[in-house]
Amino acid sequence: MTRNMICIGCPMGCELTVEVEDGKAVSVTGNTCGVGKKYAETEVSAPTRMVTTTIMSDSGKPVPVKTGTAVPKDRIFDVVKAVKSASVKLPVKIGDIAVSDAAGTGVDVIVTKDTE
Ligand code: SF4
Repeated sequence: MTRNMICIGCPMGCELTVEVEDGKAVSVTGNTCGVGKKYAETEVSAPTRMVTTTIMSDSGKPVPVKTGTAVPKDRIFDVVKAVKSASVKLPVKIGDIAVSDAAGTGVDVIVTKDTE
């Protein structure tokens, strides 16, 4: 089976063609660099995404956050739900952990903007 996808590794957006056998990428073409090959292989076998959202603070001000690493695609909703049910106490700094081990994924959710 052949899958076509666009690499999201950088703004070039290379068009990838991936030959898939038994749920695994056996060849990748169209990539300009190794990031595209790795992206295609992961996208076929275990797709992941970084999650960016906001978390509510104790003062009611939303604070931008993102996951520290990519999250399995089928767990994104669980992570967002964990963030939406939590809050942070201001002030917070970039890099502070807003939610630890979000939804049991082992991924921390990190503050991305100093907020007072
Ligand atoms: S394959 Fe490399 S150059 Fe092409 S979009 Fe992905 S990261 Fe960018």
